Amino acid sequence: MKHFVTFFVLAAPSLLFGWGEPHHAITRAALEVLPVWQKEALGGELKQMGDSYCMIPDNVYADKENARFAKMESAPNEVYLKILHLPTQQAEYLEVMRYFMEKAVAALREGRMGDAARYMGTVCHQVEDYGSPAHTVPGDNMFTLLQQFLPPSDAMKDQLMHGPIENGDFKVSIDGYQPKLLGTTVNEAAWKLMHRVHEEILNARSTTVPIIEALYGEEKESVVKHQMRAAVMDAQVVADAVYSMLCLGAQKYAEAEQAALKQVQIGSFFPLEAVSLYYPQAQFFSSPYWGHARSGVILVGGNKAVPLKLCVGSRNQEFENGISAGMGKTLTFLLPKNVYARFTVLAGLHPELGAKGRVEFTISGDGKVLSTVILNGTDPAKLLECDVTGVAELQLALTSRGVDAKSNYAIWAEPTLVKP
Ligand SMILES: [Zn+2]
Repeated sequence: MKHFVTFFVLAAPSLLFGWGEPHHAITRAALEVLPVWQKEALGGELKQMGDSYCMIPDNVYADKENARFAKMESAPNEVYLKILHLPTQQAEYLEVMRYFMEKAVAALREGRMGDAARYMGTVCHQVEDYGSPAHTVPGDNMFTLLQQFLPPSDAMKDQLMHGPIENGDFKVSIDGYQPKLLGTTVNEAAWKLMHRVHEEILNARSTTVPIIEALYGEEKESVVKHQMRAAVMDAQVVADAVYSMLCLGAQKYAEAEQAALKQVQIGSFFPLEAVSLYYPQAQFFSSPYWGHARSGVILVGGNKAVPLKLCVGSRNQEFENGISAGMGKTLTFLLPKNVYARFTVLAGLHPELGAKGRVEFTISGDGKVLSTVILNGTDPAKLLECDVTGVAELQLALTSRGVDAKSNYAIWAEPTLVKP
């Protein structure tokens, strides 16, 4: 996966590739759960995707014939596209996902199944590499920093950790998993895929340290057990991606799936401020407590999580999907182009924790204020609704408008994007 590796490929493939052999196992597991009509449509290309196309982005120097299926028109001189292996910024990797999905869907619609399968192989590779346990530490792909925190065993002392963390010879199965439709347009599907990949990255992060510890302890079974946790989820996300591209190609969507995509709640999505999917200290606020925005809970005093709660009408109600945030730090969400028309959210203060607070809630689209309201802690929550047609970046901002900033326990509940 690293761009200097390809020259050594013949010498030591298992050490050098991202997810190496497991790329094949994960792709095959994903393809296995596709519906019959999709397997039939893929025909002989199905086997090729698992056997070879999922490796196109790694093999761009060796396999010159297929290299163009992992190349972008916007970067004509880059043979090896690093972003197909390692995440950078949301806007950048969303565009890469969108680009290759679009190429695959266009090829499908024109009946070029061989091209489509190769582009889909590239999408599989990106999804798999992002969810690889060895690609989880931002800026430390070789674990030279992490090994300072986790000093290696004598046996591992002089080894590069990347390969051992992700490689192995195992079989993956997601038998019984039903792939999900990510969108009825490429823009929507790519954006949804990105959020699925974020979940996958967090899952993979939880496997990295246990894998390293198992490697140090020479506990092979434990290494595989934790690798499998990452591989299984990667296969599910790959299945969603391939299933969706084939649905888009055929323009064939089940009614219930289409209906489910009519609106989406974004309270669990990562805003741009959570660069690399965590909040850097620069994004911390100091009121109502010292901390960062949270999804699904609000922290009493900054350290005890309780459910999100707002007064709706005349009674208190708890919410699962929503965000608790602090004063003065904006949350920015990337929206897909031409997909959603409206944004709705319940804005308010937690009825007990925030009773003495007073907060201004502001929703902006591409820097322009779309809706704003000032609420006291004793006011019922207010349903804010705005037109987001054409909006690329949606921002949620909070400002203290009272005297007791420590009481500004503000909540955005059920932030929802709705299609026209
Ligand atoms: Zn790779």
